[in-house]
Amino acid sequence: MLALACARLFSQTQVPEWCRALPRPEYRTLQRVPVSDAWFEVYEVARGVFAVYEPHQFEETISYLILGKKQALLFDTGMGISDLKKVVTELTHLPILVLNSHTHNDHVGSNWQFERIYGMDTDFTRQNARGSREDAQAEMGADEICGNLPTGFDPKSYATRPWKITSNTHDGDRIDLGGRQLEVLATPGHTPDAISLLDRANGLLFTGDTYYPAPIWLYRPETDLDAYAASIHRLAALAPELKLVLGAHNIPVASPSVLPRLEAAFEAVRTGKVKPRPADPGQVVYQVDEFSFRMRAPQPKP
Ligand SMILES: [Zn+2]
Repeated sequence: MLALACARLFSQTQVPEWCRALPRPEYRTLQRVPVSDAWFEVYEVARGVFAVYEPHQFEETISYLILGKKQALLFDTGMGISDLKKVVTELTHLPILVLNSHTHNDHVGSNWQFERIYGMDTDFTRQNARGSREDAQAEMGADEICGNLPTGFDPKSYATRPWKITSNTHDGDRIDLGGRQLEVLATPGHTPDAISLLDRANGLLFTGDTYYPAPIWLYRPETDLDAYAASIHRLAALAPELKLVLGAHNIPVASPSVLPRLEAAFEAVRTGKVKPRPADPGQVVYQVDEFSFRMRAPQPKP
């Protein structure tokens, strides 16, 4: 996801509607791991896999810390609103390698805190690594925050800080964490640099923003719908060998059967079987069963 000025409902008490829905019931069954920073909630969602969740901001971003025996991979670094590195250090003493599911601001916010960062070899990635202010500032609206921002955090100066890509990565690369191998799957569409991460031996698929259990945002200029369709087709084919699908927003666990259903839902949208409803100016939302896709409004025929 990526917040832009979209209308969100306020209650009379000015608590945003998304915030009143928290905590999401799915978390009740997950194993919570205590950490010292109240901005984050951490859950061990599979053996050696920690979901680092940021429930106090609208994106409800989830980063994942995946442990091997020799090193750990941090798949995304969240909003950059509080001190992610400190929390990660409470969870492991292994050396950390950062890899981003894609480089929208809400997934790279704490990249600057880390020394080893793999990046997809795309111009989009290199551009975003320079940092930016506009998308970060759009995350700070009154209806974007649920509870308290961390002490000392200044929303007015909030920006995505630049980071240094220390290695390029590509589709098919394997990353050995020691006793755990991860495969990089290029799944462009949401962005040109979107990837999924496959832990084949343990049946885990980390899908970034290609799939998460909330409205999927496919309206930005960098979104390519043909590429997205091909990417979810590729992921759906993996479903029989998976145990768990782990997306990057709201709820960290989903059944692998969600992937073929996602593909069918998007196919129904693309073949004109679903009527859109209007959303923000220039955007529409297609709802198919439990899936919803926020997309650019179709251009009227001349
Ligand atoms: Zn995104």
